[in-house]
Amino acid sequence: MPETGSITTEQLRTWDKRHVWHPFTQMQEWQRDEQIIIVKGEGCWLIDTDGNRYLDGVASMWTNVHGHCRRELNDALKEQVDRLEHSTLLGLASEQSIILAARLAQITPLGLDRFFYSDNGSTAMEVAVKMAYQYQVHAGHPERSRFITFRHAYHGDTLGAVSVGGIGIYHTTFKPLMFETLQSPSPYCYRCELGCSRASCNMECITALEELMTQNAGLVAGLVIEPLVQGAGGMIVQPAGFLKRVRDLCDRYDILMIVDEVATGFGRTGTMFACQHEGVVPDIMAISKGIAAGYLPLAATVTVDKVYSAFLGSYSELKTFFHGHTFTGNPLACAVALKSLELFQKDNLLAELQPKIAHLKQRLNHFKALPHVGDVRQCGLAAGIELVENKESAAAYPWEERVGIRVCLEARARGVFSRPLGNTIVIFPPLVISNDELDFLLDVLHESIRVVTE
Ligand SMILES: *Cc1c(COP(=O)(O)O)cnc(C)c1O
Repeated sequence: MPETGSITTEQLRTWDKRHVWHPFTQMQEWQRDEQIIIVKGEGCWLIDTDGNRYLDGVASMWTNVHGHCRRELNDALKEQVDRLEHSTLLGLASEQSIILAARLAQITPLGLDRFFYSDNGSTAMEVAVKMAYQYQVHAGHPERSRFITFRHAYHGDTLGAVSVGGIGIYHTTFKPLMFETLQSPSPYCYRCELGCSRASCNMECITALEELMTQNAGLVAGLVIEPLVQGAGGMIVQPAGFLKRVRDLCDRYDILMIVDEVATGFGRTGTMFACQHEGVVPDIMAISKGIAAGYLPLAATVTVDKVYSAFLGSYSELKTFFHGHTFTGNPLACAVALKSLELFQKDNLLAELQPKIAHLKQRLNHFKALPHVGDVRQCGLAAGIELVENKESAAAYPWEERVGIRVCLEARARGVFSRPLGNTIVIFPPLVISNDELDFLLDVLHESIRVVTE
């Protein structure tokens, strides 16, 4: 077993079960099963201690862009580590964080030029929420303290991020610890809570959103939204034009628009950022997952001059944004992020993505015919296949049946690693995936769905 040195797979499994508490995992079940231990990555593939290969169907939790162990990224990291591994942004500036912010400013929507670094999506959203409220205070509107959110939204797992989230199963337990928000209907067309269908839709959910804004006029600090697609909520794709209408309403009611591009940023939807599809410029934007190509934790909350300049003043005015994380602007992560941006250009990645997105779209059609596929949703190189017990009534499988998980276990036995969102099967591969690999991924998922649901 050369990959793990002198430590056997069995020993690793024992220690894992004894010492590692896995995220979003029922550890009692985890303890019972024989777990796969990954030791190596190559392109879109993960390799375990026994040499088995798995196609990384979820881009290692939606982070991987250019594949695993991409030589140029590895070299950039090695080069940086020999120069400076970390120095703080509290009281000092650092080279890589400066260059990265300047480069990102060139590709983020116009005016989003001020970068506040942190290290993950949740913290980027915490920063966004606190920044938005403190902005209102500085603008003379401390009464504007409410936030508008959407049902089925996911913005991370720290308490502020949970407060602006809307996924019952993750969030209900913590309700006593959360702050209240104004929750608007999700544009979940397959299960429209306003009783509309895609054919009859007049974006009644936008009307509901406007009502919420009218009822709370002058009391709302910001609106928080995942652009184009609610990811963790089940790859819920918004109708075209939805985001633009949200932007217009935020303008009309003078509400800061906070766009969570943590999952959608860095090419996932076919443009660098999802809000660019609709020409939307948010007031605050959170970016993370793909920013450092899946190599290292890095995030930023990006804002416009209007927000940034409201925080300027003499120290005694106490307008300082009192927030910060220890590893803010880590040079290693920034160096990889910079190289990743270079690879986007060098590989012409966004252009190369378009035929893959079309290919995925065409291949997804085959899934619609399956008797237990209720809905197929795609946004760029991300897709969700919602499995249902009854296709006519759209009756969901009881969650206890763990249909999504069972499909993913079948897929794993066939060489694909995937992770479902409830009964929705997720397709979210590294952006560099080839058409052949994409075909393999889809063939395996198709077969796995068939085996489990028929
Ligand atoms: C993953 C995700 C987050 C949270 O990011 P973490 O790095 O896991 O804290 C926030 N928002 C969206 C849209 C995400 O997909």
